[in-house]
Amino acid sequence: MSYRTPVADIAFTLKHAAGLSRALEEGLYGDLTEDLVDAVLEEAGKFATDVIAPLNRVGDTHGTPLLDGAVVMPPGWKEAYTAWAAAGWNGLAGPADWGGQGLPHLLNAACIEMWNAASMAFGIGPVLTMGAAEALAAHGAPALRETYLQKLVSGEWMGTMQLTEPQAGSDLSTLRTRAERAGDGTYRIAGQKIFITYGEHDLTGNIVHFVLARLPDAPPGTRGLSLFLVPKFLVNADGTIGERNDVRCHSVEHKLGIHGSPTCTMVYGDRGGATGYLVGEENRGLACMFTLMNNARLAVGLQGVAIAERATQQALAYANDRRQGRAAHETGAGMSPIAAHPDVRRMLLTMRALTRAARAICYLTAAATDRAHRGADETVRKAAQERASLLTPVAKAFSTDIGIEVASLGVQVHGGMGYVEETGAAQHYRDARIAAIYEGTNGIQAIDLVTRKLPLSGGQAVRACLGELRRTASAVSAVNDPSFGATGQNLLQAIDSLERATMWLIGKLDKAPEQALAGATPYLRLFAHAAGGCALAEEALAAIRLGAGDGAQSAARIATARFFAENLAVGGSGLERAVTEGADSVNQADVALAG
Ligand SMILES: Cc1cc2nc3c(=O)[nH]c(=O)nc-3n(C[C@H](O)[C@H](O)[C@H](O)COP(=O)(O)OP(=O)(O)OC[C@H]3O[C@@H](n4cnc5c(N)ncnc54)[C@H](O)[C@@H]3O)c2cc1C
Repeated sequence: MSYRTPVADIAFTLKHAAGLSRALEEGLYGDLTEDLVDAVLEEAGKFATDVIAPLNRVGDTHGTPLLDGAVVMPPGWKEAYTAWAAAGWNGLAGPADWGGQGLPHLLNAACIEMWNAASMAFGIGPVLTMGAAEALAAHGAPALRETYLQKLVSGEWMGTMQLTEPQAGSDLSTLRTRAERAGDGTYRIAGQKIFITYGEHDLTGNIVHFVLARLPDAPPGTRGLSLFLVPKFLVNADGTIGERNDVRCHSVEHKLGIHGSPTCTMVYGDRGGATGYLVGEENRGLACMFTLMNNARLAVGLQGVAIAERATQQALAYANDRRQGRAAHETGAGMSPIAAHPDVRRMLLTMRALTRAARAICYLTAAATDRAHRGADETVRKAAQERASLLTPVAKAFSTDIGIEVASLGVQVHGGMGYVEETGAAQHYRDARIAAIYEGTNGIQAIDLVTRKLPLSGGQAVRACLGELRRTASAVSAVNDPSFGATGQNLLQAIDSLERATMWLIGKLDKAPEQALAGATPYLRLFAHAAGGCALAEEALAAIRLGAGDGAQSAARIATARFFAENLAVGGSGLERAVTEGADSVNQADVALAG
């Protein structure tokens, strides 16, 4: 089964969980209207469903072989990419001064979900190009922006992000790629990068690499990294494509999933060094790269949502079609659709609830990013920036973890037909797996949340977030609607657990950091269950307010929020205990693993 973009669902979460409607009323987005938002979503949905989704299987089976130094992209991909860029999708949230449309990151986040649900392997390329454009806009010198920015914003040229080397993955301090000053303001880059997404392909006439490298006199560690723009083809003074730069793709990885996305080993300096241009200041490269990476982290979170949505659609269709056994409540003869069996219903509901919760968390993160850029005053912008920083690791890690879990449930719902390749359920599972690894593994995200984000503004950022979650849970209890069941109460208990775990971790950060690190992953999950449960409750409350209008489907939204609160958020107390009581046993791993 192919993917159908759930435009109404996406629009509802944007408007009512992520606050787009309120932001439009406030004027945060200038003269942007809901009608325009709806029109953009509708068009993006059509493109994703009609043009990109049919290429997903083609990419999986064809792969991206390297022939005579050139990557051969799957059939139909170049045409689709060219049409996609020509329609302006790459520049949706790009700066208007450089040919972008300057629309909200929030709206772009919804579109990124659609491109990736249609095909994760297709969607990851543009994610990196958008991030590269943002990094260049923020840190590039005027001449560099003049030559490259408009083409990156439009997607006429694609960008790459190049950090990883064989000995430098999560820890970039040992990065070895060298940069020498050439004496004319440019640099010569030499070394090797591995696992580079879209490092080589034929979708665009040029590829603009963003490469971390080390100058000869740089301080050791990550404080000695500089960021360089290294084009595949040098660009002449008149903007035309010039000679080939000294960078090449040495090989393309064979991997578990996203076969349509070329993962390349890149070699710099066969002929004395590739010409590179400094982005930002020397030795300040990691900070510049973080502009690209923060953008990409949220986008990878959206990949998790995307693959979960696609897997859920497919499992639901299969479960309504496939008949086995007779459901307990069924009186007639014959077999029931498997969707009638409580255990299958539990799987389907888990898939639906996790997907919607992760979507809401990702969109809330994008909304905070918009407010950080567009907010009325410095106080608002700073608080929003901290909210975006706090939520980014949660959006990335939770969404990609549930992407795998939901895709795995999708295989399970299909039974044996899920394990064979025919239905496509197996491809979703294979594709989903990478998102928890790249853009900073999910373990690194959890550590980032605990060690860097909880201490923001002396803990004020996380306290403000907890206060908002509490208000939502109390509002659910206050409506006193029996169809919510124990939603309000269960969410309040999850928030209590989150608050206690937060205070415990903050207390350990200085005195016993290894205890805080041991609990980071269950803490991130606890955070996501409380925040995701409240976001679904917000949607249900909005649906009640709206009555039958605006695609509200209030009964379905209440049922989803209730399922999440009564089946998933109730795990909050267990996660709290894993954080606050489990650290000692984690730190005795040597003993257990020796046995
Ligand atoms: C398909 C694919 C595409 C990729 N695309 C790109 C790209 O475009 N550009 C790019 O630069 N890179 C890319 N990467 C690389 C990717 O970002 C890294 O694989 C990732 O950052 C992890 O690094 P590593 O593989 O060296 O694992 P390692 O760093 O060796 O980690 C292995 C395990 O140890 C854990 N770990 C490591 N350090 C710590 C620590 N301090 N505390 C706790 N746990 C720790 C990790 O969480 C992980 O579970 C890609 C990788 C793949 C497979």
